Amino acid sequence: MEHLTKEQVEEIKNFLIQWRNQILQEAQEAMGEPLSYEGGDEIDRADTEAERLVTLRNLDRDRKVLKKIEYSLAKIEAGTYGRCEMCSSEIPFERLKARPVANLCIKCKEIEEENE
Ligand SMILES: [Zn+2]
Repeated sequence: MEHLTKEQVEEIKNFLIQWRNQILQEAQEAMGEPLSYEGGDEIDRADTEAERLVTLRNLDRDRKVLKKIEYSLAKIEAGTYGRCEMCSSEIPFERLKARPVANLCIKCKEIEEENE
């Protein structure tokens, strides 16, 4: 990551850590909600169940994002952050700033999307 300055790496790192903390906090709050079905009728119960499923789905999505954040932080530690994993070219800071968990350059990302 020679193309990134220390300050730029630090900025991305701080952003990733804050992002991670935010997700963890939100997940904790979602998990902490009491799942009480008592006192409600059938419709209320169905609503509560639907809400719970949404929460679980969000948590699943959050887990995936968390994995990407951890992976990016590990790459920063290893000094391999900011390089495309397909062609090894340097990913510009502007792209990393917009998408800190990006592990492909724009060119390779486009190729990947075409192949999907
Ligand atoms: Zn590439």
